Amino acid sequence: MSYLVLARKWRPQTFADLVGQEHISRTLSNAIAAGRVHHAFLFTGARGVGKTSAARILAKALNCETGPTATPCNVCPTCVEIVAGQNVDVFEIDGASNTGVDDVRELRENVRYLPSRARYKIIIIDEVHMLSINAFNALLKTLEEPPSHVKFIFATTEPHKIPITILSRCQRLDFRKIGLTQVVQRLREIVVAESIKISDRALALIARNGEGSMRDSLSTLDQVIAFCGDTVGDDDVQSLLGMVDRRLLLDITEALLQRNTRRALDTLQRVDELGHSYRQFCRELIELFRALVLLKVIDDPTSVSDVTDDERQELLQLAASTGLDDLQRMLTLLMRAETEIANAPFPRLIVEMALIRIAALPAAVDIATLIGKLEQLERRLAGGALPAAATPRPASRPEPAPSAAAESPPLPPEPPEKKFDAPPTDSGDRGWPGLVDFVRAKRKPRIASILEQARPLEIALPKLRFGLPKGSFACNQMEDAETIAELSELAHAYFGAPVRVEVVGITADSVDQPKSLVEERQEQESDRSKRLRQDALEHPAIKNALDVLEGAVVEVRPIDKGFV
Ligand SMILES: [Zn+2]
Repeated sequence: MSYLVLARKWRPQTFADLVGQEHISRTLSNAIAAGRVHHAFLFTGARGVGKTSAARILAKALNCETGPTATPCNVCPTCVEIVAGQNVDVFEIDGASNTGVDDVRELRENVRYLPSRARYKIIIIDEVHMLSINAFNALLKTLEEPPSHVKFIFATTEPHKIPITILSRCQRLDFRKIGLTQVVQRLREIVVAESIKISDRALALIARNGEGSMRDSLSTLDQVIAFCGDTVGDDDVQSLLGMVDRRLLLDITEALLQRNTRRALDTLQRVDELGHSYRQFCRELIELFRALVLLKVIDDPTSVSDVTDDERQELLQLAASTGLDDLQRMLTLLMRAETEIANAPFPRLIVEMALIRIAALPAAVDIATLIGKLEQLERRLAGGALPAAATPRPASRPEPAPSAAAESPPLPPEPPEKKFDAPPTDSGDRGWPGLVDFVRAKRKPRIASILEQARPLEIALPKLRFGLPKGSFACNQMEDAETIAELSELAHAYFGAPVRVEVVGITADSVDQPKSLVEERQEQESDRSKRLRQDALEHPAIKNALDVLEGAVVEVRPIDKGFV
């Protein structure tokens, strides 16, 4: 008796057998039970997940002599013929080798006639995306006016290559990749029936290698059995698949989580001795860290990750010792290494550096704490960097709470307050800025704003000489006799003595002159933002944040300016 490959021998024969595609089985069974089976289906999904098997089951369900039924008998002549691929009314066409318009024309000719024995003519076109555009157009004509005795089932791994006109006439069913646990369960059923001795761990390795494809997993199992016979050892499976020993991966992970660089590098040495590719190793390590991250956030990650139940317990223990932030940072470093390996002449060096970097990662501070610290820091900077006398503001913010100071590291001392360096005055106790305030208080905002832009050149009463940018709007306004008279009067009131106002047109390059209030303020602002930035960049909390978030400081904004 010739050996039948497992994938064919164990091809699912009923909807209940379709592992991992329960949603498809339910949809199709319900449609059959309700007598509302669409005339054209599109089965999409990765290779080896059961599309063609489902198509054959559907063909049996529709044509079974006991049916139409969601549970075909598998013993009547029709069922038996369909299983053997010999039923005259069920056409299985490989889209890849029958891509032309002539093939489809022949098919269209054929479907015009009633089925010879069965209820329906069933056309299964595998890899339908391979059809030529003319073939699709020819097919479309049949799909637009389908004879009631014909059902089409198209299967494809690449639905995006199918014209929308075809897609819109099909009921689309998306097949999923099959979860590791489900593949392992199915493999277990099969090896029990086949009397093969093999551990769950080895089955998990095989299933992982199959990447969610039942057919690929079964082919791998075939190879393993061909190599080992009825008793399969874990090591055999591993070496046959070229996979990195799970134990090694777990060891290295544990070493990394314990920040034990030495042990991690020793384990890497073993990976090298066993002749594994560093890229493969890196990928498997990434998968493992991904599983650790998922374990932290989802209760049952088996649906999204290739983790068996046994392994899950072990991973849970590993994950317990480390925070989610740390795991994610480690995962990021590994993924970066994996990308770099592709073009690197020294892959081992890259993996080593990545492992060293991971083992040296300082434990991450939890983000909420960090944000709290940043906010404190910002409050402190906003409160401290603004000397009360330097820039009067209409409303001042309350001082930060004393506790903030206790928790944040001390900030560098404030530089000495910058003094206004206008020439000394012999009258008026606050000199030039006092005059400007006085003018504003007297509700002369226009004159006050001109004075703010003016450089006080000389205050030697009765002489009050100031400069304004030559030709500027403010300068022109100050040439107006009425304005000068008004200002003289105000200055008189402020200084308590008669004042003679002199306005001088100045140019931008008169650098040695005292600065105007506006210039003073701008300078202080830019000094302050420089200092804010410097302080922020040197603050440990922010350094930590930059490390964690892998970001850069774009802007430092004091809280007293408000968040925009
Ligand atoms: Zn039957």
